[in-house]
Amino acid sequence: IPVRGYDGAIVAVLGMGLSGRAAAQALQAGGAHVVVWDDGQAGRDLAQTAGYALRDLTKAVSYDGVAALIVSPGIAHLYPAPHPAIAAAWAAGVPVDNDIGLFFRSFATDDWDGFETTPRVVAVTGSNGKSTTSALIHHILAESGRPAQLAGNIGRGVLDIAPARDGEVVVLELSSYQTDLARALTPDVAVLTNLSPDHLDRHAGHGGYFAAKRRLFAEGGPDRAVIGVDENEGRYLANQLAQGVGDDRVVLVSSGQKLTEAAWSVFARKGFLSEYRHGRQVGSIDLRAIAGLPGAHNHQNACAAYAVCRTLGLGPRAIEAAMQSYPGLPHRSQLVADRGGVRFVNDSKATNVDSAAKALQAFARIRWICGGLQKEGGLDGLLPHLAQVAKAYVIGREAADFARQLPGVPTEVCTTMARAVALAAAEAEPGDVVLLAPAAASFDQYDNFEQRGADFITCVGAAVAGQSD
Ligand code: ADP
Repeated sequence: IPVRGYDGAIVAVLGMGLSGRAAAQALQAGGAHVVVWDDGQAGRDLAQTAGYALRDLTKAVSYDGVAALIVSPGIAHLYPAPHPAIAAAWAAGVPVDNDIGLFFRSFATDDWDGFETTPRVVAVTGSNGKSTTSALIHHILAESGRPAQLAGNIGRGVLDIAPARDGEVVVLELSSYQTDLARALTPDVAVLTNLSPDHLDRHAGHGGYFAAKRRLFAEGGPDRAVIGVDENEGRYLANQLAQGVGDDRVVLVSSGQKLTEAAWSVFARKGFLSEYRHGRQVGSIDLRAIAGLPGAHNHQNACAAYAVCRTLGLGPRAIEAAMQSYPGLPHRSQLVADRGGVRFVNDSKATNVDSAAKALQAFARIRWICGGLQKEGGLDGLLPHLAQVAKAYVIGREAADFARQLPGVPTEVCTTMARAVALAAAEAEPGDVVLLAPAAASFDQYDNFEQRGADFITCVGAAVAGQSD
């Protein structure tokens, strides 16, 4: 799909990963002359094979005649320091943007070739639960017969989406880095799931991090905003957006709070989702019956997804039916095996203390596999949530140090996943959940959290194969 607005102009692309390649292609299709830089030789080779002109963009002189610099995700733009190419573009006065900005910019022109009809765009941001909420919205729409595509931080790049069908909805999962860089952000429905202190270092503290997320709601304003109000930032944002009492442009979402007074709200309490409009209950779902969404954190995701689908015109019953068949995402509360009353759950994506704390609150008696490369801030945030842990099986190179930070919990330093799973499986009793929720990054032992989760699944397979029912 071509990007509009740069016909005949020179546009620079930094980084030749998936998204950089898609951006270069889309720009070229729209008539732009693309010049490319990548710090790695492999990326530069790729660019040349694809026929793009190489240019060393780390020098300000390289920006002569350049209309914009498009930055790939993962390239630092502010903290700890801007990439030299970004600094050079600033110096030369060249606008810096990314694929998300290009997407919305092209989109706003309304004559985007390939789109016979303009899809509606839902953008999901927040600290945790973005992937789950985005995937759930997509699943509900698809199950209800509404054409929908999922893109952004999940699955495919925004510039790789297919031409829209009638009534199409594009669901975008956006990280704070993506929303921070994008020069245009104009979704029809904007979602803030929640806000936690993860990633603060890259946005110079909480203020900057919140500002990056908040931009999604500022520009022009979406038709609807769905806002998690379990933190002060969400409450503040909802208050700023609402144009006085009774404005139902803003849907408030909570896990735990009773929001019956709001103009429009969706909240979960004790496993039940309720929807209220102007003080009257108009929908409810028993979330405990939905296997793919265990725990209060997933109930928060379910409420956000429900609210979005309601703004898109779906009925409560259709949403409930679709939720029943939500399969879950790999590595997020993923049920891997259920053997002799013992469930094995893969939450390898719980790479920080906050998400691991949520996973621990989702189950009653837990054999907890944790540990890995520790993040800043220590493990204190976990301490209030250890009551359900029957025993912790600690993995990772720093396993002994990690175990020392869990007072009052029986711990076993296992170091390897194989040993942790084998031991937990052997010691588990019917009703127990063997839960991988590391509260740490994976890089000391794995390439990424996906590989760690895959190893857990392999080890679970071996452990349950060795047991008779
Ligand atoms: P994201 O895309 O924002 O990283 P995911 O849906 O991939 O979110 O979930 C990431 C991790 O955070 C998972 O391990 C999950 O247990 C946890 N999590 C999911 N939803 C929430 C939520 N609403 N609040 C807190 N933690 C959550």
